[in-house]
Amino acid sequence: MVVNEEKKESLNFIEQIIEEDIANNKNGGRIITRFPPEPNGYLHIGHAKSICLNFGLTQKYNGFTNLRFDDTNPTKEDVEYVDSIKKDVEWLGFKWHGQDLYTSDYFEILYDFAIQLIKDGKAYVCEQTAEEIAQYKGTPTQAGKESPWRNRPIAESLYLFAKMKNGEFEEGKMSLRAKIDMASPNMHMRDPLMYRIKKASHHRTGNKWNIYPMYDYAHGQSDYIEGITHSICTLEFEVHRPLYDWFLDQIADKNKIRPRQIEFARLNMTYTIMSKRKLLQLVTEKKVLGWDDPRMPTVSGLRRRGYTPESIRNFANRIGVAKRDNTIDFALLEFSIREDLNKKSKRVMGVLDPLKVVITNYPENSSEELPAINNPEDETMGSRNIPFSREIFIEKDDFMETAPKNFFRLAPGVEVRLRYSYFITCNNVVKDENGEIVELHCTYDPLSKGGKSPDGRKVKGTIHWVDANQNVKTEIRLYDRLFSVENPDKNEEGASFLDYINPESLKIVQGILEPSVKKAKISESFQFERLGYFCVDYDTTDEKLVFNRTVTLKDSWTKIANKLE
Ligand code: ATP
Ligand code: MG
Repeated sequence: MVVNEEKKESLNFIEQIIEEDIANNKNGGRIITRFPPEPNGYLHIGHAKSICLNFGLTQKYNGFTNLRFDDTNPTKEDVEYVDSIKKDVEWLGFKWHGQDLYTSDYFEILYDFAIQLIKDGKAYVCEQTAEEIAQYKGTPTQAGKESPWRNRPIAESLYLFAKMKNGEFEEGKMSLRAKIDMASPNMHMRDPLMYRIKKASHHRTGNKWNIYPMYDYAHGQSDYIEGITHSICTLEFEVHRPLYDWFLDQIADKNKIRPRQIEFARLNMTYTIMSKRKLLQLVTEKKVLGWDDPRMPTVSGLRRRGYTPESIRNFANRIGVAKRDNTIDFALLEFSIREDLNKKSKRVMGVLDPLKVVITNYPENSSEELPAINNPEDETMGSRNIPFSREIFIEKDDFMETAPKNFFRLAPGVEVRLRYSYFITCNNVVKDENGEIVELHCTYDPLSKGGKSPDGRKVKGTIHWVDANQNVKTEIRLYDRLFSVENPDKNEEGASFLDYINPESLKIVQGILEPSVKKAKISESFQFERLGYFCVDYDTTDEKLVFNRTVTLKDSWTKIANKLE
């Protein structure tokens, strides 16, 4: 039927697989996925993509998603990371099934599986050094050579493996390897390592283990232990799939769920790096202020920057799932947050680079309150009053002494509208002894209250302003891209991604805001009219209000006006 065909076309390739499996009543129609981070760093926007995908699928198909920490590498892992990952997944709006799970909880079962493999003649203890193993591995076009330990008696392997576990050998002296095929065209099948000796304390199992399972072994078996139906991972694991399946062939019980590995393209973004190792380097080398520095592509950085969970989820949906590697323009993420904050955030006025304006015909020692709409996109957000008096601040670059024809803001003899206020005309430019402009003298038209024309005369420009007497002084952190090139990873010979850090990525200014923001709460977002979206930073105290610029407005009114002209 045509309708069904259309429906099918709108599904991504993973959804197509899942719908087919449901139609065939595979696994009793159940859909169980997992998000399996290694707790060796904070989550980034690529992980967020994977989270939205895994949890999104089980929401859609009525299943559930496990959160499993792939904690098989004790030297790089830490509870700080575990906690941050849990916080980030929750913040993104997802609830994992039951408790958080850990590969380390399966160490015992994985060990038993390994014993089983040895007994079945499918694994052996190898005494080759790492260098020998590498030498014997061969090349993609040349078969490898078998280890001299490959055919040792099963009983000997069992005996040595137990000793490895008990810590009786030095690191690197022995390993447990799967006995597959040293001539396989797939290098991952050439007797891969299953266990190595590591005398490191683990953040959950302490000093209990002296051996730790390799990722390729532990990962698939953990999926199997948990009954994961669809094991979704990134493309680089495609070549590991035969190994994933080989282990399952040896271990899996036919009556239990057998996980199916499906690969999708990892998210890459312009002006960003996504490797946890490199993100860690930015933190440890103090190139940024921490994992949650608002310039970082981490979930915690984006949160601090003012991104909302909705904006990230929308972004993830918008980019979809691809089978081939690609790079997404960072501007698409910015589009998603603008779209969300446009609907949700309260508008206020603030000036980041103030220039004083004296309204010479406004009565001295007098002020008034002018109503302003909180969000033109949402009537229910109501309105507020903003104070206005004889002295105000405007943005320095909203004035030009000798303005070109297409400059619609303030200039000598030119009339502009002050947003929600009055029309003003600039009559006089006051300068200091160095010729710097210190203030402007203007007159206002009392009949233009609310910014409405009293007689049908038009003014082209509308500018924002803040009252000079009643306002809030704030620190405002203006962020730009952390890297100054589109692909900091693909660099010229000898260069490192660190060489491309944008020296202008953080600029701090002292801004002046309308008094209504005094009550702002940490993390609350605002649109500063004509300037962008800003949110209250964690560093805010009772004495000091600190804002982060989340993102600029794409089209300021002026740009729109310029286009219309
Ligand atoms: P890195 O290589 O930077 O250490 P990783 O992929 O090893 O990252 P994990 O903690 O293993 O990090 O990732 C957890 C899950 O997130 C994996 O299933 C992985 O496929 C997924 N993931 C990681 N990076 C991305 C990305 N850029 N796009 C989509 N999914 C990703
Ligand atoms: Mg990984």
